[in-house]
Amino acid sequence: MRLSHGFVPTLKETPAEAQIASHRLMLRAGLIRQTSAGIYAWLPLGLRVLRNIERIVREEQDRVGAQEILMPTIQPAELWRESGRYDDYGKEMLRITDRHEREMLYGPTNEEMVTDLFRQAVRSYRELPQILYHIQWKFRDEVRPRFGIMRGREFLMKDAYSFDLDHAGAVVSYRKMMLAYMRTFQRIGLQAIPMEADTGPIGGDLSHEFIILAPTGESQVYFDAAFEEMDYFSAEFSPTNPDDLERFFKLMTTHYAATDEKHDTARWDTLAADRKREGRGIEIGHIFYFGTRYTKPMNTTVTGPDGKLVHPEMGSYGVGVSRLVGAVIEASHDDNGIIWPDTVAPYKAAILNLKVGDTACDAICEKLYAALDGNAVYDDRTDRAGAKFADADLMGHPWQIVVGPRGAASGTVELKRRATGERVELSVEDALAKMG
Ligand code: ATP
Ligand code: MG
Repeated sequence: MRLSHGFVPTLKETPAEAQIASHRLMLRAGLIRQTSAGIYAWLPLGLRVLRNIERIVREEQDRVGAQEILMPTIQPAELWRESGRYDDYGKEMLRITDRHEREMLYGPTNEEMVTDLFRQAVRSYRELPQILYHIQWKFRDEVRPRFGIMRGREFLMKDAYSFDLDHAGAVVSYRKMMLAYMRTFQRIGLQAIPMEADTGPIGGDLSHEFIILAPTGESQVYFDAAFEEMDYFSAEFSPTNPDDLERFFKLMTTHYAATDEKHDTARWDTLAADRKREGRGIEIGHIFYFGTRYTKPMNTTVTGPDGKLVHPEMGSYGVGVSRLVGAVIEASHDDNGIIWPDTVAPYKAAILNLKVGDTACDAICEKLYAALDGNAVYDDRTDRAGAKFADADLMGHPWQIVVGPRGAASGTVELKRRATGERVELSVEDALAKMG
């Protein structure tokens, strides 16, 4: 992207409505714009981050054997009457009437719809387990949308649904998803902790929330220091090996970690004082096992091994894909702006031309821009150098390549790593090689 023609409306001033860092920085760096309360348009840089996160989420879902589908945003009220949730869901649900007076709704979640798809297609226990997921926009008419895309009304979610013959099978699916989640968050650069949680309106009896720590988090959380030291990625856990899954699940759930709703003060008190950690947390994912909560009322059965009909056991597994963009920024920024982890950055590098119009500077910048092959922002604007440095820090690309007339004359550029501030002077080739 050439910034002179890029759709990147950065702001110098801090927008008054933004209370937390990620919201401020997303507006200031030109990633999003609000179009209605809690509803946002994603601009080019923001969309690239959203797509990167979505891709990682998808890869890790696929890796544990989940199958991607795409369900519509609009659902018939009928299905929700079958499960008994239509009235219970209350005002968070956006209800719509079509021209034929049919009651519809904009999906806040998809348990009913996926159960309906499942019951039309799957007949026998031999086809189980099934884990289906999609990445789709949801609408929840939150009472208090706030913190930008962190608590929006329209937001992008990955939601997966597992169907198993029995409880033991459902537990295996649950563990697979926990593994997929921890891998996903780690790749995104987030240190997430699975915490015991309430099952809430979805219902059920086993549930974990995945929490990252941030001073602006909405929940109070308590956990064992063991999570700070855990190195669970050095061990390989196979999603198809039940023993591996059990070991992984034990590792994740042996140590104390709970949100305030599930906080067990008696258990907490048994923990040594120097092992106690507490703070504010942001929920980035939430998984539930709820058995036959939907398959029973929705009359969903498969034939079991003995020829009798059984209601499959279900779980559901959500990740806030759009919320993750904000969560990454909360976890990784400084006073000057965003510091993108390499895996989700909109572009790998920003090329800063300090003297647009200078033959040597222009030639080096064009060469870099071509070599980076679509993975760089080229600041070819005629602004002063200070403004370019500030914008590059604000946008937070992992590398900055500064091209000034003095270095250009001798064929060198300055390469800066955004995260550390470390700078080195290098030839164009060495700079490209160092970025990898
Ligand atoms: P919360 O407790 O934050 O209200 P929830 O428990 O209602 O969320 P789930 O139904 O479990 O959320 O949805 C799965 C994930 O979707 C959440 O973990 C969160 O990351 C994300 N999410 C939920 N509500 C919103 C929202 N209003 N805006 C952005 N992301 C959301
Ligand atoms: Mg939740």
